[in-house]
Amino acid sequence: VVVGGGPNGLAAAVRLARAGVRVTVLEAAGEIGGGARSGEAIVPGLLHDHCSAIHPMTIGSPFLRGLGLERFGLEFRLPEIDCAHPLADGTAGVLHRSVAATADGLGGVDGRRWRQLFEGPVAGYDRLADDLMGPLLRLPRHPVRLARFGAPALLPATAVARAFSGERARALFGGAAAHAFQPLDRPLSAAVGLGLLTAGHRYGWAVAVGGSGAITRALAALLTELGGVIETGVPVRSADRLPPADLVLYDLAPGAVAAVLGDRLPPRTARAYRRFRHGPGAFKVDFAVAGGVPWTAEPARRAGTVHLGGSFAELAAAERDVTAGRMPERPFVLVGQQYLCP
Ligand SMILES: Cc1cc2nc3c(=O)[nH]c(=O)nc-3n(C[C@H](O)[C@H](O)[C@H](O)COP(=O)(O)OP(=O)(O)OC[C@H]3O[C@@H](n4cnc5c(N)ncnc54)[C@H](O)[C@@H]3O)c2cc1C
Repeated sequence: VVVGGGPNGLAAAVRLARAGVRVTVLEAAGEIGGGARSGEAIVPGLLHDHCSAIHPMTIGSPFLRGLGLERFGLEFRLPEIDCAHPLADGTAGVLHRSVAATADGLGGVDGRRWRQLFEGPVAGYDRLADDLMGPLLRLPRHPVRLARFGAPALLPATAVARAFSGERARALFGGAAAHAFQPLDRPLSAAVGLGLLTAGHRYGWAVAVGGSGAITRALAALLTELGGVIETGVPVRSADRLPPADLVLYDLAPGAVAAVLGDRLPPRTARAYRRFRHGPGAFKVDFAVAGGVPWTAEPARRAGTVHLGGSFAELAAAERDVTAGRMPERPFVLVGQQYLCP
């Protein structure tokens, strides 16, 4: 039994079903998908993603790529520009799929540094991806390659940003690192930025045709084909109510797992789950804009993702405020322009 039909629960269910295990997914909501759902919100016929929208890690996932989900209608599209990070002076840091094009756009010393940082990891991405996305507790298959990628990833984002001399490169890197919602001067805070940018250079910051819900719909269709069962509208509140099973997987937050399992969890584990501190919340708003957003920085009009947060120093200040529980004066805003993926 898998409790929770978000993308991770469905992926786990598919993996089990492919190994010949009989699987039932129990989902509380009226539809599967969790943070990968889409639907109309403002204008009839105009789809919005409920949560996730841009998918460099999905299109680059060795597991998902091996499932043949295109048979179930999953198709990715790429914007002309993956990401633009506009600055107050009207210029922008611009992320292209190609490392060379991105480096040329940054020019000079920063262009060279961008190449040094990304050319190796991008070339080795397909061999690295299993290690980057796999479980932590196992021996990596490519330890030397992973260590080479891992060395800068261990650093705070501030240290990697200091390697660049211009604001466009610093802010472009900082915006990607800020996806982690943690202070940018913390060790390891460079890792998320490096991972997203490397995946982007290899596969692109892709969007699913029909919205992110197409990803979970395709996973659900494959699961059903493999004999799996999906039940929606079934909130699991106590493990006593679960159907008999050899194994139950929870695609839930730790506190929810502690509530469902109650006394069945060893006391130390239950305490740790209850004490788990969630990261800061995100506020999301949907817009329907006729004719697109008239950004001042021209590349932002062609970018699937726009990062609004100003300079690296301003981004770092905003993330510091969020972690300290203060509302930042200028919060870091991630704008998804999925309609720009033709
Ligand atoms: C605003 C926002 C934007 C995001 N943008 C991106 C993005 O652009 N790209 C990206 O890669 N990621 C993005 N993410 C992150 C992404 O959505 C999550 O990483 C992903 O959804 C996690 O999947 P999951 O299966 O682990 O959990 P979830 O998607 O949260 O799924 C958990 C499921 O469990 C169900 N459930 C909960 N309690 C119970 C219960 N008691 N019984 C039964 N079912 C239960 C829920 O209804 C839900 O369907 C974004 C997240 C947010 C919030």
